[in-house]
Amino acid sequence: MQDVLTFTTPFGIFANRRLVFGLKTAASIFQALVDLLIDELKLSVTTGIYAYQDDTVIGAHSFQEMRNKIRFVLDVLIKYNLTLSPEKCVFFKSASDYLGFNISHNKIQPITSNILKITGFQPPRTVKQVRRFLGLCGFSRSLIPSFPELTECLTQLTRKNVPFQWTPTHQETFKNLQDVFFTKPVFRLPDWDKPFVLNTDVSVQAISGILLQEHEGKLHPISYYSKKNTLTDFLSRFPVNRTEISNTPQDEQELILPIVETHCNTINATSDTSLEISTSTWLKEQADDTQTNEIIQLLKNPSLKDSNNILGFYIDPTTHILMFKSHRKSQAELIVVPKSLQHTALDICHISHTGLDKAYQIVSNRYYWKGVYIDTKNFVLSCDQCIKNKSFTPKHASPQSNRIPTRPGDYISVDIKGPLPN
Ligand SMILES: [Zn+2]
Repeated sequence: MQDVLTFTTPFGIFANRRLVFGLKTAASIFQALVDLLIDELKLSVTTGIYAYQDDTVIGAHSFQEMRNKIRFVLDVLIKYNLTLSPEKCVFFKSASDYLGFNISHNKIQPITSNILKITGFQPPRTVKQVRRFLGLCGFSRSLIPSFPELTECLTQLTRKNVPFQWTPTHQETFKNLQDVFFTKPVFRLPDWDKPFVLNTDVSVQAISGILLQEHEGKLHPISYYSKKNTLTDFLSRFPVNRTEISNTPQDEQELILPIVETHCNTINATSDTSLEISTSTWLKEQADDTQTNEIIQLLKNPSLKDSNNILGFYIDPTTHILMFKSHRKSQAELIVVPKSLQHTALDICHISHTGLDKAYQIVSNRYYWKGVYIDTKNFVLSCDQCIKNKSFTPKHASPQSNRIPTRPGDYISVDIKGPLPN
């Protein structure tokens, strides 16, 4: 990471020695470090410790167990040279707020301040306020059964091109949602030694599930899952067969065709390799080319003295195209490409502008000619599109140091680009 954060100044090259916050990836790098610590604790069979960013929570069944776990955590923190701020730490609590939830013995519920924000929310007067309200409620959606169905009416209001009109129905939905939070949705924490019960349901509007567990003869919810049923919505727009595509309006065709096209491309890549150049073109060009024609003539009138030159070549009995059977492991049957079609063949194989390795892999699985690797290499390296797409930022080089110029024209910089197409 340090080399990426290196910067150059007129006085020399400098690098950050610590992770700078504010960087796009800083949070995930920090979380990776935290995960490393947690993994280490798990290796020492100290479970019941969770951490998200700089929030760590330790759970234990007894005072002694908690003491031991805290010791373990502190030891690991010391090992990695990390520090804690005493004012921000609380120890030996029977209930604690963690990531917006209040966790206590066997129970999990939204924290009181969040509940108060929701129950005290005034009826929205703008779309923005509706979004804010839904966002506040959505945070605890895992504690609320059938969340999408409950909020559907309000979500409608936030859609594009829907004018904001607060009707009695909206007011009722709003009130109902607030009531759900008034009653304080509470969950039991999962008991990993007991079996779980999973109930699922699908309707046209939503997909939902409840994870339950039995306690004192009654099933208690552990978590709710609910999602708007986008699949039925998608399938209702998808054509049943391909002939229907031509009947769909222009803008929907654009929506659907890429999916169908991608599918067809994958089929082409693995099945008929001669699809793009017609059989008649192959036959004509192979006959017109001196080299391929020579082989064809030798195959037609075999003589002992030339048998080595035509080793591996054969005429396909159905298409009559000159082929070559590779003696590599794959034993692939390759089309012998005459000079006039080599460029087209490379074009076809390089259609997705993949790198040299991938391009050569595709070419060598379909076609054969002498010097095919060199030709592929030259073709890919001088491909206009690839040069344009290529990022010219050197990947591993660190910045060069600057020397302060003493007079105008002291330095001349040159950027080198290429190889260019012939
Ligand atoms: Zn390219």
